Amino acid sequence: MSTGQMICSLARAALRVSCKRLIGADQRHETLEVYFDFQESNREEGMLNAAEQMTQLRAGSRNHSTQQIGTGYMKILYRTLLLAAFAVTPATAAESDPGPIIDVHVHAFGPDRFGPPGQTMCAPSEYWPARDPAEPMSKYLDAYSGHPDCAHKFKAPLAADEIRKRTMAELKRNHVVLAVTSGDADEVEHWRQQEPDLILPGLHLGRTGTLPDIAELRRLHAAGQLKVLGEIAAQNGGMAPNDPKLEPLYALAEELDIPVAFHTGLHAPGTAYFGSRGYRAINGDPLLFEEVLVRHPRMRIYLCHSAWPLEENLIALLYAHPQVYVDTSAIDWFLPRAEFHRYLQRLVEAGFAKRIMYGTDQMLWPESIPIAIKNIETAKFLTSEQKRDIFYNNAARFFRITDKTPSALRVGVSANK
Ligand SMILES: [Zn+2]
Repeated sequence: MSTGQMICSLARAALRVSCKRLIGADQRHETLEVYFDFQESNREEGMLNAAEQMTQLRAGSRNHSTQQIGTGYMKILYRTLLLAAFAVTPATAAESDPGPIIDVHVHAFGPDRFGPPGQTMCAPSEYWPARDPAEPMSKYLDAYSGHPDCAHKFKAPLAADEIRKRTMAELKRNHVVLAVTSGDADEVEHWRQQEPDLILPGLHLGRTGTLPDIAELRRLHAAGQLKVLGEIAAQNGGMAPNDPKLEPLYALAEELDIPVAFHTGLHAPGTAYFGSRGYRAINGDPLLFEEVLVRHPRMRIYLCHSAWPLEENLIALLYAHPQVYVDTSAIDWFLPRAEFHRYLQRLVEAGFAKRIMYGTDQMLWPESIPIAIKNIETAKFLTSEQKRDIFYNNAARFFRITDKTPSALRVGVSANK
């Protein structure tokens, strides 16, 4: 443990800081990045007070700088003069350093994907507003995504380039080395060309109830633009997982050995009345995959959003079909935090810690990335090994990553030839 890490450890309990990572060191100084979570205190004075106290806790004469990240965290960079006794401490990563992360659920969406640009989203949501059917839907939408009632919320950037750049910046800042990214094919390709080592391209399909031609999917695959089939948002388009219209997709995934990402569970509350009118909660039932899995035994598939909140049926499916994985996307920042932790704990205690993969479901709100990571890092019921599994190891196994060099990650599937 280095000097700075010792200081962080002392400060952690009193100030709700976490030693994010050691970002630099030489023989005399080290620079650490620490985070102060002011979501719980929700007071500007608390942030500044914490920065002051961190300064006082530093050993010797140093300097520090502060930077607010989104609306959830403040980053404090500070330099610590190493004492002679610690001068030989190697510059290893901090204990709470999450290490490399694979995000299995990112979207390349434009700002008008869900309606007028600039929508606001809570992270986390605190409660689900009630709708009075006598009132216009616009009133409910304003309560949900116009001016939602919650302490911590993000407004979406208004331009596509800004969404992309800020998403890339957050991914890199948070040690994400690979991001499964889906959207329309052109937009995903634009992102991939900007960051070819970071973006593993997928395709967001099915949300309107129509499906792409198999010939077009083969063309994208041959061009290296389709390495994950999904997110398949069939539930939003009014299709159950066992809808016969989806059979050609499953057969193609099996033939080409492309992993499948399938949406299950939550969407915007009330979406059946204003957005995805075909959405039905029942079509998120994990047990509706059973016959599909048996018909396609070589298919690799993960259920996005862990089919929240249908935990009993999800556990039944995971137990009976050990090739199925899940991701934590959206539920790790969008749900009330206690509910996310309870749900994740239920899955882990049921024995599925090796089948849960980290995902964000970053759509239009790049600040969701550090919030989602933080909500897993702070889960007291997870061991550090389980956190490593969720952040990286389980996805590396599922996607058959063969080269773990972050700058040259390669996925061992035929789709990557
Ligand atoms: Zn989804």
